Amino acid sequence: MNSTQMQVTNGNNSDGEREGAKPKVPRRTPMACQFCRGRKLKCDGRSTCANCQRRCIPCVYVPVAAQK
Ligand SMILES: [Zn+2]
Ligand SMILES: [Zn+2]
Repeated sequence: MNSTQMQVTNGNNSDGEREGAKPKVPRRTPMACQFCRGRKLKCDGRSTCANCQRRCIPCVYVPVAAQK
């Protein structure tokens, strides 16, 4: 019994997932703080990231615009 399940999964996605549609408003770029960047650590991007918090050092983010 039940050997013919209706598998209607044929490209008829109506407004589901649209890949490639990137919003051109990058909000909060996933940036690493100076410390993480210098040590190539994974920064969680918080105002004081975990790495800095652990070391009790100031977490400093340098805005990209400030770089030349
Ligand atoms: Zn960090
Ligand atoms: Zn940090």
